[in-house]
Amino acid sequence: MGGSIRLFQFAGIQVSLHFSWFLVAVYQLTSRRHGYISPIWAVYEYLALFGIVLLHEFGHALACRQTGGEADSIMLWPLGGVAFVRPPDRPGAHLWSIAAGPLVNVALVPVFEIIHLVAWQSGAAFRSPDLNHFFEMLRYINYGLLIFNLLPVYPLDGGQILRSLLWFPLGRIRSLQIATAVGFLGGVAIGLAALYMSSIWIGILAFFLISQAMNGWRHAAALAAADNEEKRLREDANRPPVF
Ligand SMILES: [Zn+2]
Repeated sequence: MGGSIRLFQFAGIQVSLHFSWFLVAVYQLTSRRHGYISPIWAVYEYLALFGIVLLHEFGHALACRQTGGEADSIMLWPLGGVAFVRPPDRPGAHLWSIAAGPLVNVALVPVFEIIHLVAWQSGAAFRSPDLNHFFEMLRYINYGLLIFNLLPVYPLDGGQILRSLLWFPLGRIRSLQIATAVGFLGGVAIGLAALYMSSIWIGILAFFLISQAMNGWRHAAALAAADNEEKRLREDANRPPVF
């Protein structure tokens, strides 16, 4: 993969980090300190954010493997992570491969709640306000990632879950058309929110979502064209010869 460094391999899945991650990390860490007394904690928090993202991506990749699909690489980049998964062409396989990511965040909720509670009860939270703030932020980051990923905005997980659910009654093409149209509108809404908040990061995210939704829409059109062509060829083959 261009512009990235290989970090490590786990269960045959290669984890890479895109170079742009470093630029954004430097920007994020210098522009805000997140209310820590010692700035090193902002670094720990930023790394923990991507650690949680990585666990989420492994959820996708391992679930995809379970369905008999292919998943051999995960890339971390400034907007989060991408697991390159190719589940078999069945709605159930797609649904499980996508849902497993947010389910990792659901599983992490009690973990972070317990860590936070133990820090309070043991008094560690009072001895180190930075440690306490860090544990509190882990909870918020995990909730934030869970809620954000479940937005029904294709290609976010929520949008792809919507697509997989629609696939059962409507088929793979119609479901993709509806999910990508909803995703496009959601991307536009997020873009307007970015303008309202004057946030360049949310703006970049909206741009990414809109372009991915449009790609998905075009992919649905290509699938429909391929289906029609196949149908036409089948009809031609079945047509009796005319003498
Ligand atoms: Zn995901």
